[in-house]
Amino acid sequence: MSADAEPTGPRMRVIAIDGPAGSGKSTVARRLAERLGLEYLDTGAMYRSVAFAAMAREVDLADSDAIVEVARTSDIRIDDTAVVVDGVDATTQIRGPEVTRSVSTVAAISGVREVLRVRQRAWAVERGGGVLEGRDIGTVVFPDADMKVYLSASSEVRAERRAGEVSALDYETVAADLAARDAADSTRQHDPLSQASDAVHIDTTRLSVDEVVDKLIARLG
Ligand code: C5P
Repeated sequence: MSADAEPTGPRMRVIAIDGPAGSGKSTVARRLAERLGLEYLDTGAMYRSVAFAAMAREVDLADSDAIVEVARTSDIRIDDTAVVVDGVDATTQIRGPEVTRSVSTVAAISGVREVLRVRQRAWAVERGGGVLEGRDIGTVVFPDADMKVYLSASSEVRAERRAGEVSALDYETVAADLAARDAADSTRQHDPLSQASDAVHIDTTRLSVDEVVDKLIARLG
């Protein structure tokens, strides 16, 4: 529930958090949302869900039109504990190596981005705002967000964080996958990862989650 309903009518309070993989976006966004009494949306999970649905339907990742159709027709449900795609619990698989290696290809397709952008905006409107994290939230999805945040961290620390989450893979593999995904996400034609000019930039390399969240709350005033 939004704590910000204003007497003059519904006013959206949107916090946009962007940054590369392993920069701390999800943990920070989740905790910030809790502290502000807002809901939280992991938009990366939506792109991962489309990649998962495409694989489940055996659609060729090189067939952009078919992937857009998957995005348009897939039923993606994300809550605090689970991600369900077309009725199948995909919580674990969307984080697995197969989806992780194909998600950037899916996310580079402008039609897929269009479909998910509409859903992301609708998600926030339905809730009177929220904390959304991804790659293009402050630049494209909510360019008028109340606060835009860009998180970064050294590539070593980012790879260590991800390796800690994905126990099946060794550090070198995770580091190489992460570098490839960052390169694809930052250089793609449509909505590449970039820092909005008015975003608060925080390097999380040596900061705890609470230190980052405290800084953001202080900025909000
Ligand atoms: O955040 P996460 O690493 O789970 O995101 C998975 C992928 O989804 C990213 O590597 C990127 O290709 C894509 N993505 C995106 N735009 C967003 C969120 C994620 O392109 N807003």
